Amino acid sequence: MILSAKNLVTRVGKDLGLSEDDIEYLLKIDKEHVFEIDLGNGRTHKAYRVQHNNLRGPYKGGIRLHPAVDLDEVRALSILMTLKTAAIGLPLGGGKGGVAIDPRDLSEEDLERLSRAYVEHMHPHIGPDTDIPAPDVNTNAKIIDWMVEEYENITGDNSKASFTGKSIENGGSLGREAATGRGGMLALAEYLRLVGKDPKELTIAVQGVGNVGFFFTKYAQEELGSRVVAISDSQRTLLVKDFQNNKTFLSVEGFDKSKRGLIDDLADEHVEFLDRDAILNQPVDVLVLAALGDVVVKDNAFDIKASIILELANGPVDDFAFKALKDDKVIIPDIIANSGGVIVSYLEWLQNRAGEKWSAQEVDENLKIYMSKAVRSMYDYAKQKDIPLKEAALALAITRLLESRKS
Ligand code: GLU
Repeated sequence: MILSAKNLVTRVGKDLGLSEDDIEYLLKIDKEHVFEIDLGNGRTHKAYRVQHNNLRGPYKGGIRLHPAVDLDEVRALSILMTLKTAAIGLPLGGGKGGVAIDPRDLSEEDLERLSRAYVEHMHPHIGPDTDIPAPDVNTNAKIIDWMVEEYENITGDNSKASFTGKSIENGGSLGREAATGRGGMLALAEYLRLVGKDPKELTIAVQGVGNVGFFFTKYAQEELGSRVVAISDSQRTLLVKDFQNNKTFLSVEGFDKSKRGLIDDLADEHVEFLDRDAILNQPVDVLVLAALGDVVVKDNAFDIKASIILELANGPVDDFAFKALKDDKVIIPDIIANSGGVIVSYLEWLQNRAGEKWSAQEVDENLKIYMSKAVRSMYDYAKQKDIPLKEAALALAITRLLESRKS
């Protein structure tokens, strides 16, 4: 993933006529924290926080728990966060954290110890104006609440503004849990509006049934009237049989969000289970990538039949696949499509700082304003320059960053 991120920034930077110095500046990482968390009995786990750039505001980005986490991945994700906050126009920078672990292997007590140990190490580098972590893959409000409590115990700061994605009772924002999936739905809706397509006509396949895939599916069906006809978890794909000739769709009842999996007894005469990667090559209109990075690569890029790809994970289409697909498909890029999470994180942070609590409606309205505006700017710029949406989003983000550097 790090190569894809670097290649993309370098290519778009060159197209913008940037100097070597500017490109180097964009890729330069401010600070890397690499440490180990010891859970006893020889169970030590590598932990990371990479603070990429704080030119436009405090470092901002999630902490993920996944066995595949390594320094290169966290670096790439931190660069994507800086580009994301700049692309949306938020006064925030970019950072990312992670621990190389599968949380499903941990007891509740060990998960709590791990969360607290992360903060014990990182607390001097975290703060409302320094670095504001949030949830990411396999982290949620419960984990963030443990982290907040540990942070308060150590530092005495009880402003709650040092983390976002907290539970509602603990200073979190209404709408934050659903924000990334909801934002993805809003990004797709705005794109469809701009190109004059009716969402009700669309069939959709969703890779990933975690938080993001769950809420995307829910809102795409409830609010856009689109039909989700295939979903997949880390083991298999669930597909509506003969979906082009009937109106059946998969409801979110088929997700077990807590286990991030599909429920077994879903199989009936209308649906079938296929292998995990079958999700990628279904003849649907939209393929939503809501699982992990680097899932569309050289070997499978040409299998994709959907004409629109919505990147809700970070970096799901690698740079090789992007170059192979960019002329035939519309790729709504991660730094815009999945920015709903960080947009509502920003709204949470504003509420914490002002001592306010906004209604769900107020949060959703603001999310829609930020998202629609970002999609429109990206779309207009792409049209004007005749470039793919991904390169347009990046060009806008880079331009904004360099403007801040000069001022
Ligand atoms: N983890 C989310 C992302 O990748 C949200 C980050 C945040 O809210 O700071 O954008």
